[in-house]
Amino acid sequence: MVSQVFQCPHCGESERVRRHGRTRRGSERLYCNVCRRAFTPSPKSRSLSEEKKTHILNALAEKMPLIAICRTFKVSPNTVYALLKKT
Ligand SMILES: [Zn+2]
Repeated sequence: MVSQVFQCPHCGESERVRRHGRTRRGSERLYCNVCRRAFTPSPKSRSLSEEKKTHILNALAEKMPLIAICRTFKVSPNTVYALLKKT
């Protein structure tokens, strides 16, 4: 398998980019040796997964209290409100 080539978004360098651990969300962090900056080539979407959305909507349909939903699914009340607005 050919390793993926990553390009530095700051200076365009792709040869001297090395791995730099991971973000809290599990995306790969890369570090450019040319401009000495770290970057994330493909940050994970901050939106909820479809699966989680479905679970939250089901919980709402069952009249689960908002506070319980937030605790169970580790989301903020704003996330739940945003989800309701979209549907
Ligand atoms: Zn760079």
